Amino acid sequence: MKFSTLKFAGEEVKKLKKEKRFLSPRVLFSAQDAVAVIDGKKVVNLTSNNYLALANDPRVKKTAIEAVKKYGVGTAAVRTIIGTMKIHEELERKFAKFKNAEASILFQSGFTSNVAVCQSLMTSEDDLLISDELNHASIIDGGRLAKATRRIYKHVDMNSLRAILESKESRKARRKMIVTDGVFSMDGDIAPLDEIEDLAHKYGAFIMVDDAHASGVIGKKGKGSVDHYNLHGKIEIQIGTLSKAFAAVGGYAATTKILRDYLASVARPFLFSSSQPPSVAATCLAVLDILMKDSKILKRLWENTHFFKEELKKAGFDTGKSETPITPIMVGDTKKAIIFSQNLFKEGVFALSIGYPTVPKGKERLRAIVTAGHTIKDLEFAVEKFIKVGKKLNII
Ligand SMILES: *Cc1c(COP(=O)(O)O)cnc(C)c1O
Repeated sequence: MKFSTLKFAGEEVKKLKKEKRFLSPRVLFSAQDAVAVIDGKKVVNLTSNNYLALANDPRVKKTAIEAVKKYGVGTAAVRTIIGTMKIHEELERKFAKFKNAEASILFQSGFTSNVAVCQSLMTSEDDLLISDELNHASIIDGGRLAKATRRIYKHVDMNSLRAILESKESRKARRKMIVTDGVFSMDGDIAPLDEIEDLAHKYGAFIMVDDAHASGVIGKKGKGSVDHYNLHGKIEIQIGTLSKAFAAVGGYAATTKILRDYLASVARPFLFSSSQPPSVAATCLAVLDILMKDSKILKRLWENTHFFKEELKKAGFDTGKSETPITPIMVGDTKKAIIFSQNLFKEGVFALSIGYPTVPKGKERLRAIVTAGHTIKDLEFAVEKFIKVGKKLNII
């Protein structure tokens, strides 16, 4: 099909290809398991966010199937019309309890959760949205859709944050919201939420933490970064996704009852995009239940994480500052990172290459994510292949 009016798209794609930014993702032929069939080949899968290995868990699948039988496959309505089912309310109630918050509100994704909160709370140029420079794209886009003035502080740099809070602009601001990822998605480091809390409340700002990579991963029973720092009752808004450790799809904001009700009346993704299918809400309820009862699953995730990182370090790889299952393996060159990933795949291991501009120049890397579903044998196999290919490419 040819449209002369769309010629520009071909030129854009050519440019992307030249810059090595054109994406052609690999395809999963199986469930999202620790060993999966990707592009037709069985490989150790170090690329998903399926931290708790529950995306294909029989207990979770059973609950989801029962929900389909009882409630059907979709809601065919937005929450505020007739898309709120009992099961959504139940999940909101249980999720609030999990997060030690008064209330919670569900959204269709982590992405729309960030957009919803930033846009709903930051509604005037007199409001100040203060964001870590490495925050997730959905926070950046949420900020773009908000009417607030935006200021960016250097990554986890409290002096840089303080300078913004002490500025004249900040002193005059009507509302101030500090936004940070709980765990940063490219580096796997944990935000210094305790120090951010100190500063925020000293200068009259409130905090929104995005726990996409922290919920189900850090804190007691996977309660996230607020629990990790024991800051219960001190962080105003906890955002997160139900699409990673929670294995389904969706997002949430856990906060006060009054703010939750406010968001439910004004947040545009809540008002203008349909609600989660009931099976998705049921999946999240099943995951919550497992997290409450089964402490082995988190223990396995962390044992695997420590084992994998130690072995890579022993082999001489630079795994950055990660403190979580997200493991960067530094390469320092986009092309080399791509070749590293391709060669590993041939050897039966899938770890994604991440190049500029997703990460800064010189910080190009592979990113490997360990899950509770990997066996030590899977990880030993992966490390052996990392060493083999790493040596061939002069990375170690
Ligand atoms: C993955 C991610 C999101 C997006 O979550 P989805 O549910 O996939 O839309 C938001 N914030 C952070 C920090 C993430 O890592």
